[in-house]
Amino acid sequence: MTSETTTCPSEAPLTLGDLVDRGAAYLVRHGVPPDEAPTQAEILVEEAIGLRRAALLLRRADRPAPEAVARLRGAFRRVAAGEPLQYVVGHWPFLGAELRVAPGALIPRPETEGLVERVLSHPLWPAARQAADIGTGTGAIAIALALAAKAEGRPLQVRAVDLSPDALALARANAAANGVGDRVACEPGDGAAGLPPASCDLIVSNPPYIATADVDALPPLIRDHEPRLALDGGPDGLRVLRQIILDATQALRPGGRLFLEIGDDQGLSVRRLLERAGYADVVIARDLAGHDRYAEGSLP
Ligand code: GLN
Repeated sequence: MTSETTTCPSEAPLTLGDLVDRGAAYLVRHGVPPDEAPTQAEILVEEAIGLRRAALLLRRADRPAPEAVARLRGAFRRVAAGEPLQYVVGHWPFLGAELRVAPGALIPRPETEGLVERVLSHPLWPAARQAADIGTGTGAIAIALALAAKAEGRPLQVRAVDLSPDALALARANAAANGVGDRVACEPGDGAAGLPPASCDLIVSNPPYIATADVDALPPLIRDHEPRLALDGGPDGLRVLRQIILDATQALRPGGRLFLEIGDDQGLSVRRLLERAGYADVVIARDLAGHDRYAEGSLP
């Protein structure tokens, strides 16, 4: 045995609590930040045992079956080797949805939950009948909107558009698994250009908005694992945003609204793009960390 395997957290008949503690220490030794390792270890243990999130609190003294320990060993190794936890686990929550996540699509982020919350709290939301999610990835935005509409008994339909066939397949499976396959239409397309004219009450997008040079400087956890297509916004990071802002003027009905996620240094540029394209009620808003993150405008 190499020292690598002897230090792996899952060799002895340990309790779940031991496995979490040893697993967290193992992750820290492999470069996972100490403030993140305990939570990651808990999630991996819960996943291997088949427990719901946070169920471990009451089960730390349990001793797991050997097969679960074997699964756990493999999962810890992958995270220690630098794979995102979300891809190792294979699914991740996003607002009310549980989404399958895989390397063909961006891992949904809390900032994007904030984007959806802005849509749901906007005065246009209750009457909206047709929405579009541009660059849907896992389907996160489209599915969260469809689930909210379903819960509120509203007839909203969502077009979920993506360039990537892998992402579309994932989004389709996720929509079905979350019970909104009949409300989310997953369609191939480049931005908002293929949407029928004046068809949408709401267009929502978390497009790639990172400048090409900055993509190379991202942490390896992101840069080497998540799809470049989902991150790279061209030389100035605004290439896709610019195109969506223009194409959405055709796809929105008069009075319809565009909701965008943007980079924290793009507020001023995106405000100008929206105003120049003729949008009214332009808003730039911050995320929970206090950074400019959202841009909105309505078609007059
Ligand atoms: N809409 C997806 C998300 O927000 C994917 C976004 C992207 O690929 N840039 O998670």
